[in-house]
Amino acid sequence: MAVVAFENARSVNAYYTWDPRVLLGVNAVANQNYRHKADTIGDLLIASNRISNYIDNGPWGGGAPQEVRVRLHTVKETIPNPHVNHFCFGTISQISYATAAHAVTWGIPAALQVIPGVPAANAAIATVHIEMDSWYFENYPLGFCAGMLCHEFAVHCMGDFLMTGRQRAAENFHQGPLVGSWAPNANPLTAGQIDHVFASCDLQPRYRQYRATVIEVAQAMAAAVGGVVAPGRVAVVANDVTDLFRCYLMDVASIQATNDHRAKGLTRPAVVATCFNNHRAALIVALGAAGANALIARVPPVITAATVTGNFFYLASSLLWGFLPNYSKSWWGY
Ligand SMILES: [Zn+2]
Ligand SMILES: [Zn+2]
Repeated sequence: MAVVAFENARSVNAYYTWDPRVLLGVNAVANQNYRHKADTIGDLLIASNRISNYIDNGPWGGGAPQEVRVRLHTVKETIPNPHVNHFCFGTISQISYATAAHAVTWGIPAALQVIPGVPAANAAIATVHIEMDSWYFENYPLGFCAGMLCHEFAVHCMGDFLMTGRQRAAENFHQGPLVGSWAPNANPLTAGQIDHVFASCDLQPRYRQYRATVIEVAQAMAAAVGGVVAPGRVAVVANDVTDLFRCYLMDVASIQATNDHRAKGLTRPAVVATCFNNHRAALIVALGAAGANALIARVPPVITAATVTGNFFYLASSLLWGFLPNYSKSWWGY
């Protein structure tokens, strides 16, 4: 049975009341038991058939362990780590193949990079492993954290697995800009990360895998809203679904607008906002096509450049806090 298990998630933040972020009113997250938040996110991801099927029957052939671990780490742990060489949102989260002992196999053998859907060619690979920054886990609500993990699965390893060989080959041999239904056109040749730009172009198969995964997890969330909260879990509220969509839309919009050089989003917030609103309209159409009309009311409203700038500063201030105590992982930031 598929499991998504968090490592290093401590329980409660005893100092929440005196946390400067809370005192200043800049913290968007209520005082939650971090362990319970993590386990709730794990449940929601597993409720997606796409993710649970991938974990149980992925390219490793369904052998044990059918478990994916998400390890929280502090900024100070990330900086000296020589393996953190490709970044999905700065260092916010990363996915890699792993062995049965959950040892990360950073540096996928060259053969697997060329044919990304077939890590079974490496007998040692038995699962995937995700690293996530504790400052992000603490400062962003449940829906954003779930969205970040949807990215790791669907944009990277699981996306490779679910795409056909022909689709993967088309990405590998693609030349020139990626033309989607609206400007600007990202270009894989100069992109921050190639998977990311294919996942941000609405006409690409990787984009459709990402969106379909987000919709499935949103449906799992919506089904949990108002339900009985099991012991060791937190309540899922309707706004969590909106946060998941917001995380996804801001992700694809900022990739497309900056060719995955995200810091540039600060200098062109109007382009990011236009992309966000176009992806948003496409999401609404896709929700209707998926028979998920009830979720359309949960799609966040149209945004402006000021929204983008505000989100950017929240992200930056949360990152800076990452050098201070990370209550979900450690009291002193290490
Ligand atoms: Zn990524
Ligand atoms: Zn990555």
